[in-house]
Amino acid sequence: MKGLGQDARYWEALSRGQLELPRCAECGRWRWPAPFRCGDCGSWSFDWQAVEMRGVIYSWTRTWHPFEGTEGFGSPFVTLSVALPGAGDIRLMGVLEGKGEPAIGAPVTGHVATAEVYGRAIPGLRWAVSA
Ligand SMILES: [Zn+2]
Repeated sequence: MKGLGQDARYWEALSRGQLELPRCAECGRWRWPAPFRCGDCGSWSFDWQAVEMRGVIYSWTRTWHPFEGTEGFGSPFVTLSVALPGAGDIRLMGVLEGKGEPAIGAPVTGHVATAEVYGRAIPGLRWAVSA
């Protein structure tokens, strides 16, 4: 059914340790969250393409208090919004690894890690500030 499970390919790729994102097959614009129809040209067709896990910090926040489902991240932990130049600067969320200080505009590289959330193993992005 159109409109349901549009991001299934994203999760399937993450479970293989890879990042894939949808790009409009007509106008070429990268799209995230995964839509069922392009908001620019109206196309219903998307090509899912592998994207390198390299970006720059667009924004970040530090969470000081643990809450249910985040125990695996340690405390405090930093969540990043990362802009991906290789995919039209769309932004993805992920947890910063290590104790380094995040800075807006800093380059980061990512990989996929699994977190235990409510008893389920969920793949997600982890970012590290590039040397
Ligand atoms: Zn389009």
